[in-house]
Order: sequence, then structure tokens, then C-alpha cells
Amino acid sequence: MKNNAFPKSLLQAIRYFADPDVCVDFVASMRWPNGAVCAHCGGHKVSYLSTRRIWKCMNRDCHKQFSVKTGSVFEDSPLPLDKWLTAVWLVVNCKNGISSYEIMRDLKVTQKSAWFMLHRIRLALREGNWSKMGGQDGGPVEVDETFVGPDPRKMHRGRRLRSIELNGGHGKAIVMGMLDRDARKVRAQVVPNVKRGTLQDAILNGIEKGSTVYTDGWVGYETLDAQDYIHETVTHIDEYVRGHVHTQGIDNFWSLLKRGLKGTYVAVEPFHLDRYVDEQVFRYNNRATKDNPLNDADRFVLAVSQIAGKRLTYAELTGKVEETSPA
Ligand SMILES: [Zn+2]
Repeated sequence: MKNNAFPKSLLQAIRYFADPDVCVDFVASMRWPNGAVCAHCGGHKVSYLSTRRIWKCMNRDCHKQFSVKTGSVFEDSPLPLDKWLTAVWLVVNCKNGISSYEIMRDLKVTQKSAWFMLHRIRLALREGNWSKMGGQDGGPVEVDETFVGPDPRKMHRGRRLRSIELNGGHGKAIVMGMLDRDARKVRAQVVPNVKRGTLQDAILNGIEKGSTVYTDGWVGYETLDAQDYIHETVTHIDEYVRGHVHTQGIDNFWSLLKRGLKGTYVAVEPFHLDRYVDEQVFRYNNRATKDNPLNDADRFVLAVSQIAGKRLTYAELTGKVEETSPA
């Protein structure tokens, strides 16, 4: 790495990554902290061709070439790394997210490229290995769902019909969220409905038995006591806050999510909503707090460190084939 100080602001980042060698060094150091490894066979005997900024595998059975993009969400993209890295910086550090139109204008790429970049970056932001929330000692977790989507009455007829098809009639997508009050971390996902089975499966998968689970009075949560959780309910209308019995933490997350969707995203189809939720979860879980004073550069480094091993093709994005990402 060159002798420049690591950037702290967007402007410094743009200047810093203007040098293609700096970009390659940085992404390589994130992907392969102990030296480059062949992206095809995993071999360690590789040689760097600095004029072309690619590696050649010296393993006799492989002999393939790879770049720092191979096998990452940047794979097969003709866009240079400085645009990619600037886009990552923008996505993780703009509080309400950034639209493909802003990316298009700021980075001078087509809107289609911008849209594709955004989705690939969001995939990289999705946290791979979750441990369960809460704890057997009654660790507190708030659980709630929210409806997201355009007002069907204001939608173009074609879009409205498609939306109804996708959402089973109500024209809105449902996001279910959980907030671990001790860890101050959120997890959220799009769910097909708010039936008891759906919600309870998500809780069983995501929260340790023995935890205290705070929900509203929805019938879908009624049998949680029988599942070895301590269940506390809050009725939103007449007792919003009853001591510890509230879901204000997750409510704050919903406001952030909706503000971002309203301000920045013209239309988010349910298929893409999950990725947008991943993006917002990343920003929320990596926001600066007193105990964890993360800055813009920290969030950026964390995001880039997550790109390895994740890839997303155009066909996958548009829903034609399943994802191949192991994450
Ligand atoms: Zn190889």
C-alpha cells in the first residue's frame, strides 16, 4: 500500500482510489490478508503481472488468471475499481441510502450499471453468519412486522396488477424485524405473510429459547410462551410504553427503513426489497454508538471485507435463476 493516510471522508476516498494500483492493493489486502490466493483453485503459488494487474496461478493443473474482482461481487464488471469503491463508500455512509440515479450522476455510469452496482453491493452487505439473538437468561428481543410498499391507489394500473400478483392481494410487502436490546443489533427479512407459522418459524430460527420476546398483541405471536420464550406484549394504541414492555427499538429501525424507501427509492419491487432491507440493516448495525464508535472509513472497510466469495449476475438479479452465492 502507498504511503498515503487512509481516507476519512468521501472526497479523500475519491482522491485516494483514483490510483488503480492503490485500489487493487486495497481490495487484495481485504480479500487475501496473507497474500493472494488463486480464485479458481485456491492455490498459493501465484504470480502477479503488474502491467495487467492480474495474477497467474502457477499450479500446474490450473494455470488460470484472475483479478482482484474474480469471485467477488465485482466479478465480470467492466467498471473500474475506483467507481466500485466510491459506490460502496456512498452506500454504507449515506444515512438514508442512495439511489441508482445519484450513483449514475456522481460516478458517471449508466443508470442500468448503477442499479446493478447497488444490488451487488447490497448482497455484499448481507451478514452471513448470524448467531441467535437474545439468551437463555431472558435476553430481551423485540419482534415486529411492518408493511412496505406504494399506495396501490396511486399506482399505474400495470404495476398495480403486478404488485397484487406478487403480494397476494394487499399490494404491500411485509418485513419482519427483530432487535436484540442488549447487543443493539437488528435482523430483518421479507416474509410472505403474518401467519403464526411464518412468524414463529422466524423466531425459532433467530432467537434463543429462554429469551424475553416483546411483540404487539397480534394473534400470530400468541403461542410463544408454549415455545419456551418469555412473551411480553404491548398494545400499541392504549399502552405504548409499559416499563420495559415496548417495541420502540424496532420502531426506530422501521422509521429509518421507510424514510430511506420514501426519499430515495422510486420503486422497490418485493423481490428487491430484501436487498434494500439488508443494506439498511448493515447501516443500523454498524452505526456509531458510544460503545462502538465506528466512523465512515470503518464501515467502508467492513463492507469491502465482505465482498469476497459473493457474486451476483444480471440474470440472478432479475430473478431468472437462483443465486449462486454461498452466503
Ligand atoms: Zn489456480
